[in-house]
Parts: sequence; structure tokens; C-alpha cells
Amino acid sequence: MSSLRPPRSPKSWDQRFLYAARMFASWSKDPSTKVGAVAVRDRRILVEGYNGLPKGITDSDIRLKNRDTRLSMTVHAEMNCVAYAARNGVCLAGATMYVWPLMTCSQCASVLIQADIASIVVPDFVEPFRWQESFDKAREMCVEAGIAVHRIPMEGSIDGVEEEPVVK
Ligand SMILES: [Zn+2]
Repeated sequence: MSSLRPPRSPKSWDQRFLYAARMFASWSKDPSTKVGAVAVRDRRILVEGYNGLPKGITDSDIRLKNRDTRLSMTVHAEMNCVAYAARNGVCLAGATMYVWPLMTCSQCASVLIQADIASIVVPDFVEPFRWQESFDKAREMCVEAGIAVHRIPMEGSIDGVEEEPVVK
């Protein structure tokens, strides 16, 4: 993963919050994909999250390095936001979810729809092919549910995501 550079001059609030999500992504111990998310309302962060194993579940090397084990146990950044909000009585209805560096997957999209998130903002990086189907499904659901998805131009390129061979 490339080092975290501070934004030279964030041009917009969308970019600022994407950089915030990027910072939380860097906290992930996932060896393959580091994703961060912040839910925002009125230019304030309500909750933040990154992908990882659930609270109290040991993130041992054995679990993190085995792809199947890791994928089956990992809480995605967006779901971590929703779970933390539920635990702390934070209403996410009408909020915007900023996710770095990937589009929300279809599973997270279904949860964000249920949480009444108003919009999703992601950087406009080229999306890894192996998740394209899930991202497309997520976009399809968001259109149907009336959730706006914005792709924001960012400097640089996708980081924190290792290209893995597609496993069928
Ligand atoms: Zn997800």
C-alpha cells in the first residue's frame, strides 16, 4: 500500500470525506483489501468504519491470510458503520456514505438501503474486475431504491487493494 499523503488541496467536501474514509481504510488489518467508510450528515462525520473481523474475534494471521476464512468472517466498512450506529443510537437516515477506495458491494448496498442512507460517494477509480458483478448489482439496487451514487474524481490511483486472481 502506498503511503498516506495528506490531500494537497481538497477541492470539495466530497473529496475531503473521501480522504477521511481513506485514512480509516489504512487502519484495516486486511492483507488484501483495505476499505474505509464514513457516514456524514451536515458536513459532520456520524460514524466511521473499516473492514475487519468482528469485535472480540481474534484477527490472527491464520484467519487473515486464509482468503476463504477472511472473507467469511470480515465485516465490511459500511456494515461496520451501520452496526456501530445501531449500537450507539445514531440515526443514519438521510446520511451520505463515503467509501474508499471501492464501490459498495451488493450485500452492503442492501444494508445501506435498509438504513435509509440517502447517497453513496466513492472515488472514480477503475474497479477491480473480480467485484464488478457485485458493484453492478449494488448500483442497480441503488437506482431502484432511489439512492444516488456519485463517483468523484480523485488524484492518484486505487490503493490498499491487492489484485488477486479470480477464484471460481
Ligand atoms: Zn460490502
